Amino acid sequence: MTNKTISKERELPIVSGAGHLSTGITSTSTSSLTAGGGDDCSSTDLTSLFECPVCFDYVLPPILQCSSGHLVCVSCRSKLTCCPTCRGPLANIRNLAMEKVAYSVRFPCKYSACGCPAVVLYTEKQQHEEICEYRPYPCPCPGATCKWQGSLDHVMQHLKISHQSITTLQGEDIVFLATDINLPGAVDWVMMQSCFGHQFMLVLEKREKYDGHQQFFAVVQIIGSRKEAQNFVYRLEINGNRRRLTWEAMPHSIHEGFMSAIDNSDCLVFDTSIADLFADSGNLAINVTISPREKL
Ligand SMILES: [Zn+2]
Ligand SMILES: [Zn+2]
Ligand SMILES: [Zn+2]
Ligand SMILES: [Zn+2]
Repeated sequence: MTNKTISKERELPIVSGAGHLSTGITSTSTSSLTAGGGDDCSSTDLTSLFECPVCFDYVLPPILQCSSGHLVCVSCRSKLTCCPTCRGPLANIRNLAMEKVAYSVRFPCKYSACGCPAVVLYTEKQQHEEICEYRPYPCPCPGATCKWQGSLDHVMQHLKISHQSITTLQGEDIVFLATDINLPGAVDWVMMQSCFGHQFMLVLEKREKYDGHQQFFAVVQIIGSRKEAQNFVYRLEINGNRRRLTWEAMPHSIHEGFMSAIDNSDCLVFDTSIADLFADSGNLAINVTISPREKL
């Protein structure tokens, strides 16, 4: 259990529409198939024109220049008082020509240094990077206290070393017992479930999504990629006092995290008064069943 503050930086906008898993491959093969040697070369030269002199990320629309015509990216610009190239004033001059060029140039993915081969249009860049398999995985634990990130292969090792207090239950059908659910403030309960050769993290979170209105949010995430998540279905069920509440859904990949699921209520959501109906001496038992997707 940890008191928590919500990490806004980890929150991702929901990308609607499918086909995201093939984005990287599609883009790469497109550029290598359609662009000849000469095109590739000039395209690389063009992308270098968009490099921010401070952080070496790309300067993307809206593109603002200093009065001498130098560019700096939006995030660096907000921290600067003068142009990093000429020390002149940072005027608000839009460079519409560069913006137009930006729309036709293919930029390497932000995670190219991690091995991502994707080269994408500016308009597809952000969407690709959110789902890019080369983007480091964040620590899947709720709360903003742990800043760890790394490859998927190292997530379990991180949990074993830095989050030893999390218990693991074996099996596809287990009981997640949340104790002292009436504790005041924002509280998280976390448990691991191991089945079908995969590890799942169960999270129950109590928080005020709306002022003065506390709710519980329960969600299952797989220690795996979005593609692996698609192979499973989880079911949460709370039983007791001749009442039953159930929720079934695909687990979330820890790559996307579960904050967006909570924000969109794409999880088991119930009020504190409902929790009281099911709780036994302040403890709430949630039955968790994970099954391969084909079974349903
Ligand atoms: Zn920059
Ligand atoms: Zn300048
Ligand atoms: Zn990428
Ligand atoms: Zn961590």
